[in-house]
Amino acid sequence: MARTTERLPLKGNSPGTGQEVMLHRYGSPGNGPKAYLQASLHADETPGMMVMHHLIPLLDRADEEGRLSGEIVVIPYANPIGLGQIVNQSQLGRYALNGDGNFNRNWPDLVALAGDTALDELERKLSDDALKNTIAIRQLFRRVLLEREPRDLLESLRLTLAREAVDADIVLDLHCDDDALMHAFLIPQHWPEAADLVAELECRAALLAEDSGGASFDEAFSTPWIKLAKRYPDCSILPACLAATVELRGRNDVSDELGRKDAAALFNFLRHRGFIRSEGADPEIPALLCEATDLAATDVVRSPAAGILAYNVDIGDQIRKGEVVAWLIDPAAEQPLEGRQAIKAGTSGLVLSRNSHKYVSAKDSIAKIVGKDLIEGRDGGYLLED
Ligand SMILES: [Zn+2]
Repeated sequence: MARTTERLPLKGNSPGTGQEVMLHRYGSPGNGPKAYLQASLHADETPGMMVMHHLIPLLDRADEEGRLSGEIVVIPYANPIGLGQIVNQSQLGRYALNGDGNFNRNWPDLVALAGDTALDELERKLSDDALKNTIAIRQLFRRVLLEREPRDLLESLRLTLAREAVDADIVLDLHCDDDALMHAFLIPQHWPEAADLVAELECRAALLAEDSGGASFDEAFSTPWIKLAKRYPDCSILPACLAATVELRGRNDVSDELGRKDAAALFNFLRHRGFIRSEGADPEIPALLCEATDLAATDVVRSPAAGILAYNVDIGDQIRKGEVVAWLIDPAAEQPLEGRQAIKAGTSGLVLSRNSHKYVSAKDSIAKIVGKDLIEGRDGGYLLED
């Protein structure tokens, strides 16, 4: 098996423009289990691209040694639109500049897209044979995406990526936070199954939510299986796509050293999952550095007003509910010492992230604190920062 590199053209927004997504494929489509890994859907989050730079040579070598099995798809940059959004020397890669919103929100709901007629058709094919059900559901999801025609560049990008991820057993979407420790988002149905991923990456938090409210890329492929299992409780439907958003620490944590380390972690994860045969004994899964917690127990601390942040805690600190996370300084206060107000933790737990930029607006997220107790008002609500 040899790697093939494909360049998939995207529909341009205006005459004479065009962009493309590149993918590397090991193995052939439909041949064995499939792993799909993409980097930097939020195009200003660079660590994922660095990890791919180091992961591809590892996979190439294993490929040359005949150790790969199944299909592995690697997308080293998932968002050429965002990569090109440079305004006044700043890269704006999180939101589409044309007003179409956050690149990692509003991914299609495959079950809703299928529609009632196709779901009735599916129901007639379902049985208590879980593997046959998985095949039937994948065929439906694939068809749903193939039938759609993109109207513009962003829809074209979304469809191109989704069509490739839709039939994967494993989908890893590599992101990063602002200034943060390594962590991952998963649906609860994949815990503790995904403990090998979390352990290999040395995650300090594994945040579980069945529906975080934003229709993010990972949930677009993991939750449809859960929805169908609920819709057809008498049929055996597995959570057949393990999809995770991996937050590769903070946006400035980009180096060859970290890229190599994280690429090796993902490579080992793929070994545990049978995509890479080992020369000798399989590597042992390292010990977990965290337990999984409900995302609704993570406090997204927000600023009550605009101002300057003076943090009172560091990432990695364990703090108590009510403790001062940061002082918010009002530069317009006539008496500077009276222009300071405390922003306090809403839960006890680990300080997972902070802002690197220290000027904030009202309601901006300024930190995430990983707690264990559900926070009132968060359960069942919108759980993401923006
Ligand atoms: Zn992101």
